[in-house]
Amino acid sequence: MAIRIRIGDYERVTDDALDRHSVGYFPRMTESEAWEAGRGVWRLDLRMVRRERYALIVGEGRVRAIAEITDVTVHGTDRGRKKALWGTLLTAGHPIYDHYVNQIDPLRNDSRNSVAYGDLPEEVRLRARHCACGCGQPTEQNFVPGHALRAIQARIREHFGGSALSFLAWLDNELPAEEPQAEVLTADRART
Ligand SMILES: [Zn+2]
Repeated sequence: MAIRIRIGDYERVTDDALDRHSVGYFPRMTESEAWEAGRGVWRLDLRMVRRERYALIVGEGRVRAIAEITDVTVHGTDRGRKKALWGTLLTAGHPIYDHYVNQIDPLRNDSRNSVAYGDLPEEVRLRARHCACGCGQPTEQNFVPGHALRAIQARIREHFGGSALSFLAWLDNELPAEEPQAEVLTADRART
């Protein structure tokens, strides 16, 4: 999940909660400048933010910086308590960075709210590049070699007292009868 923060036009500020002298977007700003301008301070739902992994800073409709969120801090302002994000800027070579930086805001909507939350398709794909057994190891396949069998054996231990025979009996009972498929095979054979 990601949080999208849209920054407005450049403006100078005083007494800023993050000690900045300006906020907002200006042409050719660096990614660090975009992150600094966009990471705070906002009215954010802490529970929502804690679920997000990446923050995208958007200026004039395009992604100007992407960070992996490491912390959220709360700041008292004259307009109530607001939050700021802390994070590490992503750089070239990171799949999320390569896919979204300088591109059109992937979470664009008609809302006037600067903040939006959502799933990035690339993030979902990135998650899918980890072993399906849940061990967390990266893999180009569904499983790290050997882990598919390990995952099956773990389930047999957990749900069938370690008995492969009980597991197979349960599986055979659960699966639909195979008659329709047998008929197709027979028909194919009859044609050849
Ligand atoms: Zn695994």
